[in-house]
Amino acid sequence: MEPGASTDGAAVPRGGLDAGASAPADATVRGGQVDQYAVFLRDAAQRREELGLTRMAVDDQLDGVSIDLAGNDYLALRRHPDVIAAAVAALQDDGAGAGASRLVTGTHASHVTLERELATHLGHEAALVFSTGYHANLSLMTALGTPDTVIISDAHNHASLIDGMRLAKARVAVTPHLDVAAVRDKLVERTEPRAVIVVESIFSVLGDAAPLRELLDLAIEHDALLVVDEAHGLGVIGERGEGLVRALALLDRPGRERIITTVTLSKSLAAQGGAVLGSAALREHLVNTARPFIFDTGLAPASAGAALGALRQLVARPELAARTREVAARLADIVGVEVPAGAVLSVPMPSPRSAVSAVDAARREGLRIGCFRPPSTPDGISRLRLTANAGITDDDLADVERILHGVLRATSHERAGSSESPR
Ligand code: PMP
Repeated sequence: MEPGASTDGAAVPRGGLDAGASAPADATVRGGQVDQYAVFLRDAAQRREELGLTRMAVDDQLDGVSIDLAGNDYLALRRHPDVIAAAVAALQDDGAGAGASRLVTGTHASHVTLERELATHLGHEAALVFSTGYHANLSLMTALGTPDTVIISDAHNHASLIDGMRLAKARVAVTPHLDVAAVRDKLVERTEPRAVIVVESIFSVLGDAAPLRELLDLAIEHDALLVVDEAHGLGVIGERGEGLVRALALLDRPGRERIITTVTLSKSLAAQGGAVLGSAALREHLVNTARPFIFDTGLAPASAGAALGALRQLVARPELAARTREVAARLADIVGVEVPAGAVLSVPMPSPRSAVSAVDAARREGLRIGCFRPPSTPDGISRLRLTANAGITDDDLADVERILHGVLRATSHERAGSSESPR
């Protein structure tokens, strides 16, 4: 690690981790000896506090919240009776846990059915389910990232993709956000025989969409693969929530075999888990090489069942995706930002502290909104993150408008006057 950097991206004063530099508090001395680990934890907490980057308590987040615009349950299916019933059915048929890794005895009917229906709905030949979306991305990046490969990665890609690239043996070239020309340059300059372009369809923090048509053209022209993480596209984009890849009919074009899709089951599909979708050969390769697949216990059957129940809802009820997009458009109007391609809205704030105070003020009024601060923001700018979901009613929207106008007015002097410098 560079001096002056920390694992969470916050600045570390030089020498700040040196226990001798400051008199240790009692809690950092044990049996007359300085406890280096206690010193490390204390100093890290102090630095976060100084920078306004301490994360919010995780255990009391939903106290008194009546409207949730922070979660990722985009179709509001988490508590739908049919989704719960599908989870219960899988639980009864296949057991509470998978019982083993998928390759041993941990593959059950709920996995097989889910993989088949996911592949059909997303337009791919095959799907492979993992115990999280994080694992799906980690697996795909390491499986494709051989030493004779360059992975060309958008600067705003999700941590699970980045961590997978870090584990992979490939060279990684990061390109500025949504910069198609930079992707082309990396493809042209490459010395490796293989190349993989990696993007999210709808980016998780900013909520903007990747230029998938142009990227597929480049992949075809330069003999590359295109990996699209549809975590925030699935369920929201397309008439039946089939995601941006399918909504743009990219899988009906020549070159379709170059597209690999990843999804999480934890957002629109209201459950837990993830999947990679592509050719049967890719599935076979992952089954044989992906360590997070091989060495991990299979996805819990109840999660597979719930995801299947939710998938069937989104296929049967196009009004769900349509309502989520309508709510997103109404929220955009309320906060004065452009209508997003998906369900994610991003409102830049002048500082981490102003973002936190806006979130706290909204919460006191019963409205939960998200707050992203460095290091979770790719450009170092703190922002409020609002997510639409199909369960938000028109009455809710009237409350949201009143609350958010008050909250944003309270920070408007700061919003007008200053801006945070990007990382
Ligand atoms: N990709 C993206 C773009 C995400 O936003 C997330 C979840 N935050 C993931 C992958 C990981 O999915 P999971 O929560 O299922 O591990």
